[in-house]
Amino acid sequence: MARLKERIAVVTGSSSGIGQGIAARFAQEGARVVINYIGDADGADQTLDTIRKAGGEGVICKADVTKMDDTRKLIDVAWQTWGGCDVLVNNAGMEKEADFWEVTEADYDKVLGVNLRGPFFLTQYFVQKLLAAGKPGRVINISSVHEDMAFPGLSTYCASKGGIRMLMRNLAVELGPKNITFNNIAPGAISTPMNASLLNNKAELDALLENVPLGRMGTVEDVAGLAVFLASDEAAYVTGSTYVIDGGLMRSYHEQ
Ligand code: NAP
Repeated sequence: MARLKERIAVVTGSSSGIGQGIAARFAQEGARVVINYIGDADGADQTLDTIRKAGGEGVICKADVTKMDDTRKLIDVAWQTWGGCDVLVNNAGMEKEADFWEVTEADYDKVLGVNLRGPFFLTQYFVQKLLAAGKPGRVINISSVHEDMAFPGLSTYCASKGGIRMLMRNLAVELGPKNITFNNIAPGAISTPMNASLLNNKAELDALLENVPLGRMGTVEDVAGLAVFLASDEAAYVTGSTYVIDGGLMRSYHEQ
């Protein structure tokens, strides 16, 4: 049974990795999907191709989530193409590694811009459209275990993900009365291009997997299954929560 029949969704950063997996899975479950990219047009084409081969519907929209006009375009494309938008997945993200004392203002602005400012104003526009139409909606943010867990060398990333945790909680309270729900998915280590250097370094990978009770990296399909649940009718009473999907990483502690 298609769990997202009649749903219309925008998935940011769906040209690669987790976003690509969510867009494909949403379409498999009957949703119509706006596929978003910023640089990887081939990746977006690949997502659309996968969706079409499975008999689904999608449309590609190039948009930089840090730019206000672009964020409006993403939601407007859904309304113009299919007459609405029910689900927003704020997935686009990036990280820049640096010791805290060496972080540049430009890198701070870039990481916070994509991971926090972008979702903030994209969500704002999505909510404005829903309120004007008197419709319910779902917002799913792909945050990270680092919305909660420290990671030295990634202070900008952690600050952005911690910010989106609190934004999600605040909006769940503020917009619950309008039947708009907000939840975060907090992945641990997932096999995607973002982790390319880790995946190519056996010693580092083995050390990480030592800390993962389930003993493997997560897959984009693992994450997509959870996103389907949060976008479906089954999650109608779920709001204000973070769903950790990390193979047990956050609960694992080893004495050296
Ligand atoms: P990925 O494969 O590198 O994909 C990142 C996506 O974000 C790409 O589609 C990219 O578009 C898009 N993007 C980047 N900047 C953008 C911008 N300014 N405007 C629009 N799109 C932009 O990474 P991923 O691993 O799938 O990560 C997806 C999300 O999961 C991120 O928020 C990340 O923080 C989170 N996450 C990942 C992991 C993990 O282990 N992989 C763990 C926890 C959380 P282009 O391809 O067009 O450049």
